[in-house]
Amino acid sequence: MKKLLLGFLVMVLLVLSCDKDIQNPNQELTQDSIDMSDFYVYTDTKTNGTAKVAHGEQSFFNCFTMENLNRLLNENPDLEKKMYDIEYNTRKFISENNLKPGKGNGGNGSGGNGGSGGGSGGSGTDGITPYTVFSGTNTIPVIFHIIYSSSSENILDSQLNDQIEALQEDFNANNPNNQNIPLDFQGIEANIGVNFKLAGVVRVQSKKRSWRPDDSMKFTSSGGSDVIDPEHYLNIWVVNSMPYMGGYILGYAQFPGGSWSTDGIVLDHRFVGITQYSTGRTATHEIGHWMDLRHIWGDGPCGYDDYVVDTPEADSYNTGCYTYPGPTSCNSHDMFMNFMDYTDDTCMNLFTIGQKARMAATFNAENSFRKNMGITIN
Ligand SMILES: [Zn+2]
Repeated sequence: MKKLLLGFLVMVLLVLSCDKDIQNPNQELTQDSIDMSDFYVYTDTKTNGTAKVAHGEQSFFNCFTMENLNRLLNENPDLEKKMYDIEYNTRKFISENNLKPGKGNGGNGSGGNGGSGGGSGGSGTDGITPYTVFSGTNTIPVIFHIIYSSSSENILDSQLNDQIEALQEDFNANNPNNQNIPLDFQGIEANIGVNFKLAGVVRVQSKKRSWRPDDSMKFTSSGGSDVIDPEHYLNIWVVNSMPYMGGYILGYAQFPGGSWSTDGIVLDHRFVGITQYSTGRTATHEIGHWMDLRHIWGDGPCGYDDYVVDTPEADSYNTGCYTYPGPTSCNSHDMFMNFMDYTDDTCMNLFTIGQKARMAATFNAENSFRKNMGITIN
């Protein structure tokens, strides 16, 4: 009987020991695994929203970034894998640095549920401790390439300085309209803490009256201007116009992962700095893409995400401007005042903490694409 009991105990111990051996690797696997099931790069150009908006007698398409991405993916078979790897490292960085907020959804007043910061009315920080992403001078030097035909398109340095000033405001939580951020979203406004400085201006006179949004302006050989040291400088090409489907494209950006020879953003000269059409937020939006932010509605209907959990899901873009709560979709109020929507410049006023985490990863994650920009995490 004693022998039988002893044998039984040994078996129990063996089973327990086996269970332990099996459970531990599973737990580690769960902690380490990064869910990439919702990752996508191609978008349907019918739904991703090159919204046509009127400015006086002219009409403009807000942003050509996703169409440009589709083109680049078609031309470069390796790009999708590169962007997948960047996204994987972004999610890993956010997870490892505990920057991942809970499933907060400020717009419907449910607040965060992911951690101690979650609160009512969406005013909590969704479990994220406010943190400093960038250290040192945190300054991104900017090179403008002004590619003009007529003298009025050869915009003055003062207009470029106005543009830099707008970027300074938007990336330092100092937008002139940020007193209009609704109470529901005030708790998740992020101070990105990035500075911009005018580092150089290249002026190229061209006979071209307009440009296709196909990166041709980024090459001297096609009448444009070659990129300058894109690992250390943000290159911004300013062109006279980019006609498209009866209107003009305001601008477009290239996401991290593309060719260095075309890395940067492109703007119509009428939307640089303070003009009759603009207060400089087209550049803010495009630099958001350059720092790996998607459009706030996820370039698709409800169910498509921008990979940022503290931005409410939205069915589509918004244009114009609203008084909060304004439009509602996917069971929550749209964050139409986010820089990554399509609303008017004077209506936009915030990036969120979740968007800041993605920006931080762009500069600081493992093998990050912009690691040589000289901006590091604290
Ligand atoms: Zn865009």
